Amino acid sequence: MNGLLGNSTLISEVNLRLMLQSVRVMQPTYRSAVARHTGLSRATVTVGVNALLERNVLEEIDAAAPAPRRASGGRPPRLLRVNARAKQVLAIDIEPDCLRVALTDMLAHPLEVRECPIDRREGSRRIVRRLLELGQSILKAHGNPDLLGVGICLPGLIDRENGLAVSSTNMPRWRNVPIRRMVEEAFGAPVHMDRSMNLAALHEWWLHPELESCRVVLLSLRTGIGLSLMDRGQIYRGRQDSSGEIGHTVIDIHGPPCECGGQGCLECFVSTRAVTARGQRLVDQEPGGRLAQAVVADPPLRPQLIYRLAKSGDPACEALVRDIARYIGIAASNAINLLAPDHLLIAGSIDTADTIILD
Ligand SMILES: [Zn+2]
Repeated sequence: MNGLLGNSTLISEVNLRLMLQSVRVMQPTYRSAVARHTGLSRATVTVGVNALLERNVLEEIDAAAPAPRRASGGRPPRLLRVNARAKQVLAIDIEPDCLRVALTDMLAHPLEVRECPIDRREGSRRIVRRLLELGQSILKAHGNPDLLGVGICLPGLIDRENGLAVSSTNMPRWRNVPIRRMVEEAFGAPVHMDRSMNLAALHEWWLHPELESCRVVLLSLRTGIGLSLMDRGQIYRGRQDSSGEIGHTVIDIHGPPCECGGQGCLECFVSTRAVTARGQRLVDQEPGGRLAQAVVADPPLRPQLIYRLAKSGDPACEALVRDIARYIGIAASNAINLLAPDHLLIAGSIDTADTIILD
């Protein structure tokens, strides 16, 4: 019997993941707590935890305080925690104007983050080449560590089944780029890819496990605007993973033309590009104003600069941010009316203006 139970191939990978996740959320913790948390039997947890210890992804530590006494009077149980240093993860974020690559430990703590600006109108091959170089340089600097995997955060539409970046209104020269294969070949590790708003929602769930029992709507405000709906831990993806294009919902039928071919889309008012363009108009109107001076001191003009001045009380920037916040408020209230979530989260660069927007 022991021989059968000891064979970790009998324990499904799903159960192992469940146990690993459970330890991560509660760590440091006891085997008995993992059994209660996962609903798995004690025998299954014992075998699974041993398999995870053998793989070196869990480690045992002694309890600082006296552990619960055992009725049998045996050796007190040791605590479990994730061995964050067992492997590392390469995290890649492709934003239309910026590439970011981070090396993290198993608990997603960044060990190093590097970024480089890109021209979103450039061809995909050149951008991917720079991305791979950035990844290789960060791995080399850390002694080419053993990678658990690579995660890619992508803008626009994707085909997860075939590993393609299908298209993005913000990166017009990207068409069916086989990004997963290219990254897999370069780093020799399993690659997972998803859309940026879905990964932002997963990140919140990772940080706040209590969201698992909730319906969460996340508004992602980056170069583009996306929405992710997570219903009790499951992301709603729509046909061909294409749900969540709130940035291209029309909020002003008489509004300016949008790159998607529509008119008056939300992105025409609150995207990075729209905010920067409005900031530029402020600079042009007031060449001696605080924003113009800030751009000279810390170029280029970008939304963060506008938010920083708005927070420090500059009336022109504050009025601009409040106007943007009104559009975000309309989008958020539309999302709440449509989807009735328990929580609405806002993520992205605009959160640096948080207090003004929340007002
Ligand atoms: Zn549009």
